[in-house]
Amino acid sequence: MLRYNKFSEYLKRKYGRRVQKISVDAGLTCPVRDGILSRSGCFYCNSYGSGNASNEPVDIQIATQMEYYEKKYREPYFILYYQAYSNTYGENEYLKKLYDKVFDNDRFVAISIGTRPDCIDEEILKYLEKMNEKKDVWLELGLESASIKTLQKIGRMHGIASFVDGVNRIQKHNLNVCAHVIFGLPYDNSGDMLESAKLCSVLNVDAIKIHSFYLEKGTVFEKIYRSKGFSFLSAEKYVEIVVKALRYLKPDIVIQRLTGDPNRELLIGPEWTLNKHKIITSIESIMERNNYKQGDLSEFNYVKRN
Ligand code: SF4
Repeated sequence: MLRYNKFSEYLKRKYGRRVQKISVDAGLTCPVRDGILSRSGCFYCNSYGSGNASNEPVDIQIATQMEYYEKKYREPYFILYYQAYSNTYGENEYLKKLYDKVFDNDRFVAISIGTRPDCIDEEILKYLEKMNEKKDVWLELGLESASIKTLQKIGRMHGIASFVDGVNRIQKHNLNVCAHVIFGLPYDNSGDMLESAKLCSVLNVDAIKIHSFYLEKGTVFEKIYRSKGFSFLSAEKYVEIVVKALRYLKPDIVIQRLTGDPNRELLIGPEWTLNKHKIITSIESIMERNNYKQGDLSEFNYVKRN
């Protein structure tokens, strides 16, 4: 029995076959790298902008990945995923051309655009709202932590209100929103992590990606770690917090991710983040063993008077 709203199952239900994300680096940047808000980048982010870095033209990246997945799976559908950096941060005309590539191939059923809550322009939202009549449009929005103190300490340069505003504005245009959160960030405690899940739940996001924090070479956190040190969440604690978070998330929220995907070459720690399969299996078996379901704690604001 499926204990949570798993992304792969959601896609099969909706589109009737396997759907594969094509991750593209469109050569953009973000305001915490180009000097508009800062130059450091978010402290956990590697120089690839949290995506699959590529210097190839976008069309080549798309064609190469499509060819690969077409050999691997039988007639899959695709989601065009602008992943690296902030993909609503640029010249609007250039961005529109990038998004329009979703119409180049009928096998694209949707487009997913990764960005920050403070980089969402109204003109772009209107453009995407029109696009959404023909192809499903998702915006992937980083919250990362529901603790303002943590956000201030990790160089995000936006607060919780900015995230809420971003979600509200996307929803006003009837677009799908997928929230990104990170569990295990230095400075966050388990209460902060669960608060992230609760916030996403009450905001009725359409989907969530839960990433495990991992430390990579070339990040600001590497320097902090080497000078002052900090401890990592254990795998057991991570699993325990994710299980609880799933129980706080409303049942219809699609779970796109349950752990992180570190680059093996860049990883400093924790080592367990490399074993994605084991983490997911542990989460699923605890849910099963205890008869837990996604959302079974989601009415957390209802206090019954005796
Ligand atoms: S996480 Fe996103 S916003 Fe932060 S530095 Fe990386 S690409 Fe920029």
